Amino acid sequence: MQQVAIIGAGTMGNGIAHVFAQSGFKVNLIDISGPALEKALATITKNLDRQLAKESITADVKAQTLANLSTHTDMAEGVKNAGLIIEAATENIQLKLKIFAELDKLAPAEAILATNTSSISITQIAAATKRPTQVIGMHFMNPVPVMKLVEIINGYATGKAVTEQITALSRQLGKVPCVVNDYPGFIANRILMPMINEAIISLYEGVAGVEEIDTVMKLGMAHPMGPLQLADFIGLDVCLYIMRVLHEGLGNPKYAPCPLLVNMVNAGFLGAKSGEGFYKYEAGSKDLKVSTRFKV
Ligand code: NAD
Repeated sequence: MQQVAIIGAGTMGNGIAHVFAQSGFKVNLIDISGPALEKALATITKNLDRQLAKESITADVKAQTLANLSTHTDMAEGVKNAGLIIEAATENIQLKLKIFAELDKLAPAEAILATNTSSISITQIAAATKRPTQVIGMHFMNPVPVMKLVEIINGYATGKAVTEQITALSRQLGKVPCVVNDYPGFIANRILMPMINEAIISLYEGVAGVEEIDTVMKLGMAHPMGPLQLADFIGLDVCLYIMRVLHEGLGNPKYAPCPLLVNMVNAGFLGAKSGEGFYKYEAGSKDLKVSTRFKV
């Protein structure tokens, strides 16, 4: 399989395209938005320049990586010769079901269809196609060129040979694959999100302040980022969405999202991307300042 198509050129799509192109695959990056494709190419170029400056790649590798990439707004054109298609479009179940039903018609019959979803059931996505044995979760971590893990998720019907192929391919990209089964949140978010939710509950109940909670987890547990800062980085709307998937899918009240998280999302305080969450983000400043709402 030398040709790969990536659907969605946002945060994750551009990173996935980067690692495949750098590993020698021909990559068709597809998005409905032309400006998103332009932005993705600019981001990949900037990230390759950073690798070049650190001497982790040569100028030839940079040139070859860019030469391996092409962009498309027409999905039919972009997927027609691909052996693997990885969907990394917006996290919305109706959108993903529609994309997979379309991909099933447009992609070569033998192609594997993978999704980078953080929380949507692989089994449900696979059921939108007539090839559920060839559908699998390939959950990369952000930022993709840096993070080693690929969480590989077997849907209920995923074929063993497909899992083996995707596992070997992940190693070929220099990643470390971990195979898990398709239950809400898989492993990464089933464990991470309740921890973040518990940090928010601790703040809500007044057990400690933002800085104290994050410092305990950074210095006490060697986490590179405290859970509240990490929640801001991921996006509080994304955290809430995943908690709801866990709560509904597992039916256990221990997964109920903290009311403070719900309020913050309803009020548009989504973390770094909206300028404020548990911390306040000012353009041009790298200082981490706790939001005045949480100052005692
Ligand atoms: P994003 O919003 O940055 O990018 C999504 C892109 O999909 C946009 O460019 C949009 O134009 C495009 N798109 C929407 N509909 C499309 C369609 N029909 N065809 C082609 N392109 C379409 O989102 P993201 O953060 O890159 O997330 C993408 C996927 O990766 C989601 O499923 C998300 O859950 C998952 N994910 C995200 C992260 C993260 O940290 N951001 C980590 C792991 C997994």
